[in-house]
Amino acid sequence: MERDKSYIWSKATLIALGALGSILSLGLMIPVSSTVFGNKTGNKIAQNISNGNPTPKAESYKRIEKFRLAMLSTWQKQSIEKGLSYKIPQRFRGVTINQAKVPKGKKVIALTFDDGPWNIYTEQILDILKKHEVKATFFVLAQVLKRNADVARRIVDDGHTIANHTWHHWYHRHNPQTAASEIDRSSDLIYEITGVRTNLFRPPGGVLHNGLVAYAKKKNYTVVMWSADSIDYKRPSVPTLVNRVVKRATPGGIVLLHDGGGNRTNTVASLVPIIKKLKQQGYSFVTIPELLEIEDKEIKLAAARKAAAQKKKATPAQSAPSKPDKKPVTPKQQ
Ligand SMILES: [Zn+2]
Repeated sequence: MERDKSYIWSKATLIALGALGSILSLGLMIPVSSTVFGNKTGNKIAQNISNGNPTPKAESYKRIEKFRLAMLSTWQKQSIEKGLSYKIPQRFRGVTINQAKVPKGKKVIALTFDDGPWNIYTEQILDILKKHEVKATFFVLAQVLKRNADVARRIVDDGHTIANHTWHHWYHRHNPQTAASEIDRSSDLIYEITGVRTNLFRPPGGVLHNGLVAYAKKKNYTVVMWSADSIDYKRPSVPTLVNRVVKRATPGGIVLLHDGGGNRTNTVASLVPIIKKLKQQGYSFVTIPELLEIEDKEIKLAAARKAAAQKKKATPAQSAPSKPDKKPVTPKQQ
C-alpha cells in the first residue's frame, strides 16, 4: 500500500513538474512574441530581416515562434484526440438510452464498467482490453477517482470513454442543489484529472426518479442505462457470469459490468471469455459515443432513403404534364 502511494506521489510530482515547465516556457514564449509584434523591438527585428541581414536575435525569435506554433498545434491536436468533450449526436442529448438501434447485421456492442476506477481491478481490466483491442466506457465515481487519478488517466490514454457516475453513489432523493453537487462536481474532477469534459451520465443503481436524472437531463447529459445486466455485483461464478452476458448480448446492446465497489475478481476473470465468445459470434466492441454515432448515421440514412423514395413516387405524376413544355437543353459553351 505504502509503495503504491509513493509511486503515485512520485509520478504526480513528475507530472506537476512537467506541467510547471510547460507553463513557464509558454509564459516565456508569449511575452517574446507579443513584444516582437507590439513595439520597437519588433520593428527593429523586422528591419533587420528586411535588410537581409538577420541578427542572431532575429534567428532565435524565428526558432521560438516556430516552436511555439508547433507546440500549440500539438496541444490542439491532442485535445481533439482526447475528445475534450465527446461528440454525442444532438438527438441523444438530454435523453435516456438503454441500447442503440443499429443497422441489421451490424453486430456492435458496448461494454461499460461502473464504480471505479479501482486500483487493482480497473488496471487488470485495462490490461485485458488493451490485449484484446477492445474499447469500453467507464462510469467513474468521483470519490474513488480522487484516490486513483493515475488509473483514470490511463482509461483516457488507452482510448476508452470516461463518464460520470456521481460523487457518492447515493440512491436517496436529491433536490437540485445536491444533484448539482453530485453531478457537476464529479464532472469537474474528471475534467481536472483527465482533461475530458464528459457529457455521459449513469445514475447510481439505475435509479431514474430521485432527482439525479432530471438534473442530468436538464444539463444536457446523455443518460446511459443498459440492456444486458451481468449482475456481477452479486459475485456469481465465472461460468454463470460469462453465460449470462453472452446470452443477454444483442446488436446495439449495452453491457453493465463493475470494475469497482467491492471484490471484482470474478468480473476480471470473466472478461477474456466474454470477449472471445462475443467475437466468435461476430461482435465488435465500441464505446458509448461510437454506438450512438452508429444509430445516428442509421437514422439519417433511413430518412434520406425515405425522402428519396417519396420523391421517386411523386415525380412521375407531377412532372408528366410539364414534360412537353420543357425547353430542350442547349449544350453550354465551353
Ligand atoms: Zn454504480
